[in-house]
Amino acid sequence: MQATKPSSRHRVAIVGAGFGGLFAAQALARADVDVTVIDRTNHHLFQPLLYQTATGILSEGAIAPPIREILRRQHNARVLLGEVQAINLDARRLTIDSVGVRSEVSYDSLILAAGAQQSYFGRPDFAWDAPGMKTIDDALELRGRIFGAFEMAEREPDPRLRRIWLTFVVVGAGPTGVELTGQIAELAHRSLRRNFRRIDPAESRIVLLDAAPTLLGAFPESLQRRAARDLERLGVELHLGARVTGVDAAGIDTDASAPGLRRLEAATKIWAAGVEASPLGRLVAGAAGSRTDRTGRVHVHPDCTLPGHPEVFVIGDLMQLDELPGVAQVAIQSGRHAAATIVRRLRGDDAERPFRYRDKGTLATISRSRAIASIGPLRAWGYPAWLLWMGVHLYALTGFKNRVTALFDWTVSFIGRGRPQRAITTQQVFARQVREAQAAAVSSSAAAFNAMASPQVRRAPRRSPGSSGG
Ligand SMILES: Cc1cc2nc3c(=O)[nH]c(=O)nc-3n(C[C@H](O)[C@H](O)[C@H](O)COP(=O)(O)OP(=O)(O)OC[C@H]3O[C@@H](n4cnc5c(N)ncnc54)[C@H](O)[C@@H]3O)c2cc1C
Repeated sequence: MQATKPSSRHRVAIVGAGFGGLFAAQALARADVDVTVIDRTNHHLFQPLLYQTATGILSEGAIAPPIREILRRQHNARVLLGEVQAINLDARRLTIDSVGVRSEVSYDSLILAAGAQQSYFGRPDFAWDAPGMKTIDDALELRGRIFGAFEMAEREPDPRLRRIWLTFVVVGAGPTGVELTGQIAELAHRSLRRNFRRIDPAESRIVLLDAAPTLLGAFPESLQRRAARDLERLGVELHLGARVTGVDAAGIDTDASAPGLRRLEAATKIWAAGVEASPLGRLVAGAAGSRTDRTGRVHVHPDCTLPGHPEVFVIGDLMQLDELPGVAQVAIQSGRHAAATIVRRLRGDDAERPFRYRDKGTLATISRSRAIASIGPLRAWGYPAWLLWMGVHLYALTGFKNRVTALFDWTVSFIGRGRPQRAITTQQVFARQVREAQAAAVSSSAAAFNAMASPQVRRAPRRSPGSSGG
């Protein structure tokens, strides 16, 4: 086990370099503190554009810049790649696993920003046939499955099986589900035109399902109706009030009253239905004797601190405070609030200041030139909302180079007809299987490497396969 060197400055550990963790770290740039940012991936992921990586518009690099590159000029910050597996609140120490190498990081203040992962509402077995979309791995796997389905349909002589390959079912009619179905419809009707000889991609069946009676629940009713109309114009079948009861390789079962919807035969199923907090939420709440909500988010004090532990902040998707939604702005603003509180305390100001969220509005895109926007009393839809959506996302993307790349790829995809990122690999199409087989091999060879490198290093426990995929 490696331990970190003692430091004389106040030590801030930040778990997770998503929107919350990264903005908290940046807000501490001028503070007299040592910041350690720990993430199990090497990148900061811009999740709102994951669906564009899954559907071949943007490369993974454009939405996932390396964390250490973003923080390269911030001299009081260092970045550690690893998964936080244990938190000792009394000793103020984290235990980190980096592909089998274990280490410990001590802190004076801790910002927990580990986010959320896909939820299958108690049916994790659905994940095999209906992957979700939370990570770069997920998006690349979905890309492989979506483009791979068209390839398989082209070489399938049996019309019934061809139909199964050309049926795409997305579960969950929130912004992610709507964006994905809209883009699959664009692929089928526009981008893949004239690419195949045996099949016509425009004959694809694209279905969006949700157990709830409405789509895009966070939006006003008038915008929900517009979005539904736009999806129908794109040829998407929208079925609300249909709960998924089973998923297998060849299709999906639902409890819908219409007999035709009870069983949908489809090779490609995508889960965009629910999220639950990172398991670190329950871990830390259990250790502090504090509560979590149904989805594992930690109930915090109004200043985002863990009850009984003012030195621990829980922010973003992991935090339960006044039912604030799991969106990027909540994460960014709560991250900045935590950083500001630490700086004030170091100046001797211990007064508790509650976190106040400023809602900047909600946007969702449906397809090329169609979006909806709800900003305070303002409602926008269609082309103007889409331009607004593009501007906001371009501005929010991290790094100038990424903005230029995204602008170029959007031009190719939206003004032209192409998809710049259509390459798929066998590893992506069969990613889950390959990853699981590799995980076992990697962890045993890493343990052997550790043992060789240092006789004192303790053998790390084997990670469960696929534990990085959420
Ligand atoms: C597909 C998709 C689309 C979305 N679209 C929008 C949108 O359009 N607008 C919007 O406002 N919001 C959107 N969201 C939600 C938004 O992305 C989240 O609310 C936001 O990312 C939350 O930020 P966070 O910092 O709390 O967590 P995250 O951004 O999820 O970051 C968590 C970080 O913690 C790391 N981590 C997790 N566990 C550990 C561990 N044990 N050890 C080390 N590191 C760990 C992860 O690797 C990750 O980098 C979307 C989310 C998804 C998945």
